[in-house]
Amino acid sequence: MTEINFNAIKLTQALVKCRSITPEDDGALLVVQDHLSSLGFNCTPLSFSGNGSYEVKNLFATIGSEGPHLAFAGHTDVVPPGNESSWKHPPFGAIIENDKLFGRGTEDMKSNIACFISAAEQFLKNNGGDFGGKLSFIITGDEEGEAINGTPQIMEWTKKNNIKIDHCLVGEPTSNSSIGDKVKIGRRGSINFFLTVKGIQGHTANGHRAENPVHYLTKLLSNILEKPLDEGNEFFLPTSIQIPTFDVGNTAHNVIPEFAKATINIRFNDLHTAETLIEWIDDKIETVFTNKIKATCKVRHEISARSFLNKPGQLSKIISKSISQATGRNEDPELATDGGTSDARFIKNYCEVIELGIRNQTLHQIDEFVYLDDLNELTKIYYQILENYFKNN
Ligand SMILES: [Zn+2]
Repeated sequence: MTEINFNAIKLTQALVKCRSITPEDDGALLVVQDHLSSLGFNCTPLSFSGNGSYEVKNLFATIGSEGPHLAFAGHTDVVPPGNESSWKHPPFGAIIENDKLFGRGTEDMKSNIACFISAAEQFLKNNGGDFGGKLSFIITGDEEGEAINGTPQIMEWTKKNNIKIDHCLVGEPTSNSSIGDKVKIGRRGSINFFLTVKGIQGHTANGHRAENPVHYLTKLLSNILEKPLDEGNEFFLPTSIQIPTFDVGNTAHNVIPEFAKATINIRFNDLHTAETLIEWIDDKIETVFTNKIKATCKVRHEISARSFLNKPGQLSKIISKSISQATGRNEDPELATDGGTSDARFIKNYCEVIELGIRNQTLHQIDEFVYLDDLNELTKIYYQILENYFKNN
């Protein structure tokens, strides 16, 4: 492979020096825009506001012509550094010590953007601007916050402007012990149910005149926990049901309480949806709380994330092949669906989307850092993906 002259390190440093704590930008998007403009990208800054959230700066940049359209998606915003004096080096100093680069956002995910820009730079140098397709960057300033005026609005904007993206690579830190050993193709969903059972208060000696809500709530919960919902499948762990809270708050052992409360958290795979689970819980409640009893059960739910899976397709094949070509390793990357949420959930309805980035080690921590060697390795992989994507299509 041709020797690559990278500026991924310098570019990561320039980005880390911007104090872009959501929704502040502090010039981070301009660093990306300036680099991409100098490479010939057509840059469109996109600022969105309203929709019940704060204003967010974003960037869409594109180059190329007819042919398959690959996009790289990422975010320039970071989570707060916490107590800055606890850091070994200033969180926005982008200090290099030995083989590491320190700073908030080095791992999540400014270095990934820098590596992809460096890979694109080398790719354009070797192939020219007419490389047989289109390459775009979807960069948002709000992934860590409410994520309302970021990627969802950019995707909506591409649709309105008839921009059709065929495949998307999200640069979140997914690697485990070596770069490219793990990619993400989906996520589990999460839903909470808040249950309140109202019974009839009374003396424990006069149980027949009262109705104990604890008895009905425990019956309901054991009913819910009785059988596993599923056994998982090729890409997902089994759905997990947990009861994180159970509260009665009763201080007297001779009083049957009036209320009993519990929370249920379900982490679900793609065999369920939030809606099917809501229905399932409602059914369980109906079987316990029949009209033969006076106790009643109220339930409220909160959907925190929906599950999704992108069945491995063309992009997944190209990525696996590129990783082994660039690293010399033979085993395919793990296709995982674990971890928290990412903006891939907003892109999945538009095209095949896969997440691949630097090692997941210190994100959101004090002294977040990346290994300089890892930046080199990731840029090589990204470069190989560009070669394989545009030359084999
Ligand atoms: Zn991130």
